[in-house]
Amino acid sequence: MAGVDPVDGAAAPDQYGIVGHPIKHSWSPFIHGVFAKQTLQNLVYRLFDVEPADFEKTVPGLFASGVRGLNVTVPHKQAAARIATEKTERATRARAVNTLVLRADGSVLGDNTDGAGLVNDLEINLRLSLRNMRVLMLGAGGAARGVMGPLLERELFELTVANRTPERAEALCAQFFEAGKVASCGFADIPGPAYDLIINATSASLHGQMPELATGLVGKHTLCYDMAYGRGPTPFTTWAEAQQAGMVCKGWGMLVEQAAASFELWRGLYPDTKPVLQLLEPYR
Ligand code: NDP
Repeated sequence: MAGVDPVDGAAAPDQYGIVGHPIKHSWSPFIHGVFAKQTLQNLVYRLFDVEPADFEKTVPGLFASGVRGLNVTVPHKQAAARIATEKTERATRARAVNTLVLRADGSVLGDNTDGAGLVNDLEINLRLSLRNMRVLMLGAGGAARGVMGPLLERELFELTVANRTPERAEALCAQFFEAGKVASCGFADIPGPAYDLIINATSASLHGQMPELATGLVGKHTLCYDMAYGRGPTPFTTWAEAQQAGMVCKGWGMLVEQAAASFELWRGLYPDTKPVLQLLEPYR
């Protein structure tokens, strides 16, 4: 797989990385570095800070220079969907790509592993069964779009999508109405009673904000999951604790599981995510 270094004859590592803007705070090099060590893969994983205007010419240049696969993050996921020569079904539905794979014939496969990351975190790490759950998702942006299909595949009882701009939630649900029972609304119109699972897929936490929601949406059995990850509580997790949610979580597990799914696309094996989650424990 790897090329041979012309100077010392050692196999040169295969090259991977993540493209975003900004990107310097990304945890992906750390996560993929641990995966590579654990699975004895000879690879390097770098950060590529690329402005939106440069994305579509920079990525082919990276592949031409020897990069074999890329993760793609904010704000490039839609642009990545445009440059992939072929897409998986879940990426096509999400209209967003977070993983690019350069194939031997020069074609570029685009996939979206965000939904698999969330579902694996919920089902494997948190040992939750999603079947028949009433789920509320706050937000209708790129991350929400990526997880809709994989969530609905789990045969939920219903999925309600609430968004600051209700028209975006409506458009998103319209695209998935055949996949399950979906409904959209604005934050002020979220119907009760308490949900089994509330997912915060807004970026409000990143701005220190929390949408104003009615009481009665959270019960003692509710899992409140903030896709945002970072140190300490977020406005959403603080709200959820105050509502006495049964369980409150941030998106670290989703981050690690979506990375593992990308790693599998590139290297053909799914790494053990538990050691990485343990290493990240002090930062969570
Ligand atoms: P987008 O910019 O695509 O979407 C942002 C969403 O948040 C929109 O629905 C927007 O509403 C809403 N929003 C923004 N600000 C506010 C606010 N102040 N109050 C209420 N709603 C608001 O972002 P992404 O979908 O890419 O990311 C969303 C979150 O998910 C981020 O926190 C990101 O870090 C996280 N994420 C985590 C991942 C993980 O692996 N854990 C993977 C991917 C994302 P409107 O439509 O009205 O503008």
